[in-house]
Amino acid sequence: MKFNFHIPTKIVMDDGCVAKNADLLAPMGKRALIVTGTHSAKANGSLDDLLNVLSSNGQSYVLFDKVMANPTVDCVYEGAEMAKREKADFTVAVGGGSPMDAAKAIAMLACEDIPKDKIFAGGYSKRLPLCCIPTTAGTGSETTQYAILTNHAAQTKTSLASPALFPDLALLDSKYLRSLSKDTMTNTVIDSFSHSVEGFISNRANAVSDTLALEAIKVIAGIIPAIAEWRLTDDDRAELLYASTLGGMVIAHTGTTAVHSMGYSLTYFKNIDHGRANGLLLTEFLKFTEKKRPDRVAPILKAAGYVSSDEFGKALDSLLGKREEITAQEIARYSSIAIKAKNIANCTVAPSEEDIDKLYRLSFGI
Ligand code: NAP
Ligand code: FE
Repeated sequence: MKFNFHIPTKIVMDDGCVAKNADLLAPMGKRALIVTGTHSAKANGSLDDLLNVLSSNGQSYVLFDKVMANPTVDCVYEGAEMAKREKADFTVAVGGGSPMDAAKAIAMLACEDIPKDKIFAGGYSKRLPLCCIPTTAGTGSETTQYAILTNHAAQTKTSLASPALFPDLALLDSKYLRSLSKDTMTNTVIDSFSHSVEGFISNRANAVSDTLALEAIKVIAGIIPAIAEWRLTDDDRAELLYASTLGGMVIAHTGTTAVHSMGYSLTYFKNIDHGRANGLLLTEFLKFTEKKRPDRVAPILKAAGYVSSDEFGKALDSLLGKREEITAQEIARYSSIAIKAKNIANCTVAPSEEDIDKLYRLSFGI
């Protein structure tokens, strides 16, 4: 056996986690740049909990609450300007993957002089200290070294990836998930399910990432019916947050696959939510992989408790509902973009551009 596993983030999960861990935030700095979305953190109590802890620690803060879904390059440069102007010496992200990813980029840009047109070129090594407080159960960004930004030049979403982007601290309290709408909960859980499934069929998977992926798949599959019927308990929400953090650790090692590459065009051009975009494509990509590598798909089905990939598809369909319309021209355009994505190289069974075209068609029934 051979593996390499590295997660430098301290992860604490607990009820009242933020209030209980003032001592972990205290050494991070004197003045925080809080990076968040426009509304949800103010409404679900996460921002208040953070402000109380900062105040009890004698730490001041400045609020950057402008992060939109699928954050843009302009947004993170604006946040970095604020961090520099306000002399923030650490960063706390509160929210879903969008604020967490934006905070990673902002924390890095506050320390590195990188021209806007070179942002995706790599070579990042420094950043301000960073704590992430996730409020969705989806991206696992709190345990990854990726920050995904909208890349208008390439008409897609592109990942900034560097070991320097792993947060220092992740504080997980599932009570913040109570305010999620059915749609956002559904879409974010599909994203985390996709991370663990894609991680298992990645050619970079290892024994540890496999163990984490199968655990996350088992947990999520067991709760899918409760999401579909919208009868989640607090325990379910805690399990889903746990599973999404595991999914983050998985993709930190395996990367994502063609599903994410293909999903980015659905988000960029058709404004389909990130998690939903993956869910629309996941079953067909699993079946595509199963044809050549049934040995890598069988453990996924077994962990989820499904007898076949058709049953896997039915469970996902119970969350997805009616699929969007797509044209053959759109598919041809998206396929030509997806084949150029870095994550295609992670696929255990690598698709050609023609395969990708076919996978889109099968996924949308055209
Ligand atoms: P999101 O874009 O962060 O948030 C989606 C919506 O949910 C926003 O309207 C947000 O409102 C709201 N929201 C967040 N928490 C809430 C809560 N507790 N209650 C009510 N509403 C809440 O969604 P996401 O799916 O978590 O993140 C998606 C982004 O993460 C994408 O850009 C994707 O590419 C990226 N991603 C990153 C990684 C990684 O490893 N870094 C992995 C996968 C995906 P507010 O705006 O008001 O907060
Ligand atoms: Fe994702």
